[in-house]
Amino acid sequence: MIRVRIAPSPTGQMHVGTARTALFNWLFAKKSNGVFVLRIEDTDRERSKPEYEESILKGLNWLGLNWDEGPGEKSGIYKGNYGPYRQSERGEIYGKYIKSLLDSGNALWCYHTNADLESEKTEQIEKNEAPRHICSRNSKPLDGGVIRFQNPGGKIMFSDLIRGDIGFDANLMGDFVIAKDEQTPLYNLAAVIDDWEMKISHVIRGEDHISNTPKQILMFDALKIRPPEYAHLPMILGTDRSKLSKRHGATALFEYKDMGYLPEAMFNFLAILGLSPKGNTEILLKEEIIKEFSLKDVQKSGAIFNIDKLNWMNGEYIRGVPIDKLRKLCLPFLISCGYAFQNAEFEWLDKIIALEQPRMKRLSDICEGAALFMRDKLEYDAELLRWRDMGNEEVAESLNSTSNLLADILEENFTKENLEKIVMPKAEAWVGTNGKIDRGRTLWPLRVALSGLKNSPGPFEIMEILGKEKSLRRLREGMIMLE
Ligand code: GLU
Repeated sequence: MIRVRIAPSPTGQMHVGTARTALFNWLFAKKSNGVFVLRIEDTDRERSKPEYEESILKGLNWLGLNWDEGPGEKSGIYKGNYGPYRQSERGEIYGKYIKSLLDSGNALWCYHTNADLESEKTEQIEKNEAPRHICSRNSKPLDGGVIRFQNPGGKIMFSDLIRGDIGFDANLMGDFVIAKDEQTPLYNLAAVIDDWEMKISHVIRGEDHISNTPKQILMFDALKIRPPEYAHLPMILGTDRSKLSKRHGATALFEYKDMGYLPEAMFNFLAILGLSPKGNTEILLKEEIIKEFSLKDVQKSGAIFNIDKLNWMNGEYIRGVPIDKLRKLCLPFLISCGYAFQNAEFEWLDKIIALEQPRMKRLSDICEGAALFMRDKLEYDAELLRWRDMGNEEVAESLNSTSNLLADILEENFTKENLEKIVMPKAEAWVGTNGKIDRGRTLWPLRVALSGLKNSPGPFEIMEILGKEKSLRRLREGMIMLE
């Protein structure tokens, strides 16, 4: 039975790296009809905060990574038979194991003071040895001791499912601390006990935990229990190949949600992050991703978080969303940039959204798109109205004649098709200085006067949404700017 887990520490907002680790575990479980466990590793009482745990739960839900076992909707309620799934509530379970390690002599109370540890370290460095604490020398019982593992030394080998055989010299690790007291293990011991108690078959986690693995294996051995299989995922890197950090942009999963990325796009993007590409298709259905998933395809080198690729992918996903659903997704972004819409205006808003949809990379892009239609007065440089060799007067004349054509069209006939039918013959008839037909002489000033932008949707689409009065007003304002 495949049982995997994501074991986040609620000491900060959910990181995209944790999201990717969770996703790989989830995919591994789904692929093999296994169980995906969520365990909250809140042994660091000071840094662990309920709001961070909430952000993790919400983040997993947002990505659609439902867990089979773990914290439930309400606090104190769990799904699954191996709970509690929050380490802060597992003191009693840990106590049994810590006692057994102490009884068997695999662990011991250490009362060496900081000063003792410092002088030992100095001696070791002088002798060119790895600094570590060897606790076999007697220490007098004092308040504030810690429990250390009695490291038997030797070589530890394990076969990582991604990185292959990895060996460590246990002698270099010394007698490391495993618990603060008889109920309070530190991360490495708590992970060993929980992975065993929760019957975890595969530990899939970030490469930053490789150096913890030999310590964990030593404890599995001491407890005479079997370690799980390990697979360490490469770190996520920025485009400069250094570890992904704030310097590269957002690192928290929810920052991506807030910027307008769709969970489906994020899921797809993270799922193929660091995998050797298979074929050319990168946009994949969830079912295909599950079917194709294999740890064998994970590259050993770091996975580069390429935001351009995410933007492209998100745009592709946005294009697949039906307009009414896209409107619901866009509304919070529109509200946050100050545009409110009544239900009666939804039909009109949907036209704007449909017009922007082909260009959007993020949901937040709708603000800029909507601004084009919502603004009372456009602000742009009159220079932008000029097309090729056209002078100000010629541009004003172009706007004026188009304006006259438009003035004759009834408001209710202000549709893209009609407008095109009436304006295009004029555009097609205008011959430029080079003797060739130059439609830009009509269409460029028109589009810029309507949008104030170098790049925008086409003038006829814009006018249909703006309506007659506002369109004509913008043309007039353009002409005034040219005076
Ligand atoms: N709590 C650890 C972390 O958040 C996870 C350790 C593990 O997966 O073993 O990095």
